[in-house]
Order: sequence, then structure tokens, then C-alpha cells
Amino acid sequence: MSMKLNKRVEAIQISGIRQFANQIPSTPGAVNLTIGQPDFPTPEAVKQAGTEAIRNDQTSYTHNAGAMELRQAVQSFFKDSYGLSYRAEDEIIVTNGASEGLDSVFRTILEEGDEVILPAPTYPGYEPLVQLCGAKVVYLDTSETGFKPDPQALEELITERTKAVLMNFPSNPTGVTMEMKELDALKTVFERHDLFIVADEIYSENTFGGAHCTFACFESLRKKTILVHGLSKSHSMTGWRIGFILGPVEVMQHVLKVHQYNAICASTPSQYAAMEALVNQRHVPAEMNKAYIERRDFVYKRLTEMGIDVVMPTGAFYIFPSVKKFGLSSYDFAIRLLKEGGVAAVPGSAFTEYGEGFLRISYAYSMPVLKQGMDRLENFISTLKL
Ligand code: PLP
Repeated sequence: MSMKLNKRVEAIQISGIRQFANQIPSTPGAVNLTIGQPDFPTPEAVKQAGTEAIRNDQTSYTHNAGAMELRQAVQSFFKDSYGLSYRAEDEIIVTNGASEGLDSVFRTILEEGDEVILPAPTYPGYEPLVQLCGAKVVYLDTSETGFKPDPQALEELITERTKAVLMNFPSNPTGVTMEMKELDALKTVFERHDLFIVADEIYSENTFGGAHCTFACFESLRKKTILVHGLSKSHSMTGWRIGFILGPVEVMQHVLKVHQYNAICASTPSQYAAMEALVNQRHVPAEMNKAYIERRDFVYKRLTEMGIDVVMPTGAFYIFPSVKKFGLSSYDFAIRLLKEGGVAAVPGSAFTEYGEGFLRISYAYSMPVLKQGMDRLENFISTLKL
């Protein structure tokens, strides 16, 4: 073909998670522990609200920023849950999942040559979106600091090109969360520099133990913080495509222009379902978390009994054990575990080079599946020479 395509698009790589997932069908009977979505159905009342919206012909475009009733529900949710004040009128936008939210935010704030600092290992969805804007990701290695950003190391990476720092806590792939005192230590770094904090808090409702903490709580950082949220994980609604962006009006008025032209609005029946989720089904994440805690405790115990080093996750539904001692690259470990051991888990290298030496296990699976997975993993590692 002689027509030229956009070089930035051509340069984007297929996600390492997808590349690995493509291998799974060739191993029939494998226990699959790779999926990053809740294994619960969408709550019944939420499904009904979506179905009723379709029956009642609530299927037209809404306001670009989302139906006002939903934005008000988002406003109350964040006020009640985190004491955050965002105006429904001009500081909240409903998006097609967190993914579209992130894309709209990056396209609003990034220019060619800008840099975005990203604590890593990290979700592979960010870098391509940053690159599409002509900007560059600069990774902050957290693999030696409990998967949390060290304030001094962060400060050292900031240059006059740094436009934003992306924070994803609870984290995919590590399951690590941030405590208030840890956010406090980073706060002073952010106060000293002119940059945005893009906080992808899609797993905020999946925390086990302490409540979720967010940078948006700091008054001094309010104007710099853009929150990206959604219902995919909290209410098991990945396919409904409902996300939210919350931020200061000075930014949001421009984000709205991008969202308006790339999406017009989020799916209308899904918006009605989302209202039900936020207004009457707020207890659902807590119910799911009970199951996640039981599963996390089980997988953590089994891994430590196998002598594997692992950080205890406190959020999301992932655990990120080290497989360094087996002397294989994480990709080779994962492939052999799949082909010889019959368990699929994502190699840590799918989450940047800083994930090398680790394995991401999702515990969004039932206890019997997890038990079978851990039994097989134990058998497999007993065949490896140490
Ligand atoms: N952010 C993180 C950290 C994720 O893990 C995911 C999905 O796995 C997303 C964003 C995408 O969320 P959504 O389905 O709402 O677009």
C-alpha cells in the first residue's frame, strides 16, 4: 500500500497481556488466571435499570457531559465517599469507560514533546495513549520500593517537560494501595511543581482494609488533579462502558470538547444503569470485596507456602509474585507454566520492563478455580531446578 499511515499509530505495540492471552486457546484445559474483570454478574437492579431505559425509549443522545441526573449521582457519590466537591454542571464528565476518559484527558493536556511520569510496573493501556499525543512516558521504577513511588525518586525525574504524573492506586498489576501518609509524602513534591496529577482510580472501591485515599483530598492539589473513575470494576460493568472524569472547571471545559467530538456522549441506557448503581447499589462493592479478601488470603498463603516472595495486595484483584528465583524470564516462566503446568497467568513483562521477574495472577475467579490453579502452580515449580 503506498498511502502512508500515521506513524504514531503504526508504532504502537499490541498489549503484552493480549499477546499472552492469544497463547491460551492452544492449551485446552488450562486454568486461566489472566482476566482483569470481576467474575460477578452485573447487579440485577442495575441490569433492570438499563433494560427499562431501552424499553422506555431512553435511547437518545444525552448532554455531552452525561445526563444531569447521573452527574448529580456522581457528585453525591464522591461527596459522600471521599468528601470531594465537584460541580455536576461543569466539573464532571461521563465517558465510555475509564479508557475513553484517560484518552480525552491526555489529549486535552499533552503536547508534542511533553513527558508523563508513570510509576511502573504499570497497566499497559497508558503509554500508547500518551504516544498518540506525541508525548513520551518516563517510567519511575517502583519494583524495589514495594511498588509505591519514592518521593525523592519522583522528584529526580521531573523536568521542565513533565506535564503530568499518572497515579494508578489501587494498582493494576500489583494490587498495591497508597496510605494517607504516603500520599502526604508525595504531596509536597506535587506542590513544588507545575504539573497535573492524572489519578486513575478505577479500582478505588476495591480496597481491603483501609479506605481508599486520593490526591484530590488535598485542597492544595485540587486544581492539579484530574480523577478518572468508572463502574467497570466496582459494579462488574466492564461491557457497559461507563467511566467518569472529575476535575477543575478550567481543565474540564476543554476535556469536554475532546469528549464531545470523539464520543458525543456515553451510551444512554448504560447511563441509566449507572444511576441505579451509584444511587441504590453502593453496597455492592463491599459484598464483592468479601469474596476478594477470602481469595486474596488464600492465594497469598499458598504462594508464601511455596516459598515465593510476594507483596500482600490491599486492593484491586491482582497479586504480583516474584518468579526471579526460578532463573527464567517472566515470559518464559509464564509460557512454561501454561504449556507444562496448565495455568495461565500474565508475565510481569507485559507491564513494562519493571515488571520483569514477576507474574500477574488475577483472583477474580472462584475458590475452586484458584485452588486448582495454585495446586498446578505448586506442581509446576516442583519440576523446576532451583
Ligand atoms: N485503568 C486500569 C488500571 C485498568 O486496569 C483498566 C482495565 O483493566 C482500565 C483503566 C480500563 O477501564 P474501563 O473498562 O473502564 O475502560
